[in-house]
Amino acid sequence: MGRETGPKCRQCRREGMKLMLKGPRCETAKCAFNRRDYPPGMHGWHRGKFSAYGIQLREKQKLKRFYGILERQFRHYFEQADREKGNTGANLLIALERRLDNVLHQLGMAASRQQARQMITHGHVEVNGRPITAPSHPVGPGDVIAPRRNEATSRLVAKAREAAKGRPVPAWLEVTEEPLQGRVLNLPSREDVSAPVREQLIVELCSK
Ligand code: SF4
Repeated sequence: MGRETGPKCRQCRREGMKLMLKGPRCETAKCAFNRRDYPPGMHGWHRGKFSAYGIQLREKQKLKRFYGILERQFRHYFEQADREKGNTGANLLIALERRLDNVLHQLGMAASRQQARQMITHGHVEVNGRPITAPSHPVGPGDVIAPRRNEATSRLVAKAREAAKGRPVPAWLEVTEEPLQGRVLNLPSREDVSAPVREQLIVELCSK
């Protein structure tokens, strides 16, 4: 079976994708997801067949774990996406992708979405010059996201940026140095969404 991995890495294995739950380690060769010490085949640890319901449910769990949201928050996002014009699945993913914690991670200023959430709730992040402490804060075109200028924040961000070196910033965002800040160029499209999920399955499950 190979080396034992922690519960966070096992979640990645279970979901079949890198959930980036261990911060800088996730960006290195030590990432357990890259080690092939799990059963071969596309389902890894999963044996046997899933029912159609089981597949839909797994896809929803995957999405919730990826963005680190709870069921109650998920329901809120889904209902909002369903009320909006256009494709419900795409609306849902785009709303999640615009969360400040996801954006901070995508900008390479936090090693994981989890670390981004902590940085935001602890007051390390500003949007348009104002401290924002809600990780779910939705960013929009023209918004400027910046770490606060103090020693503790600078240390955290410098470490995250070192780990994120080489990871591309999505086209809908831009990072500038001196002063270090991120800007939202436009709203993300479905193609910009980082979560590797099949949203149609989630919509089918939640529309029952
Ligand atoms: Fe573990 Fe992070 Fe790799 Fe997931 S992405 S397997 S949490 S090191």
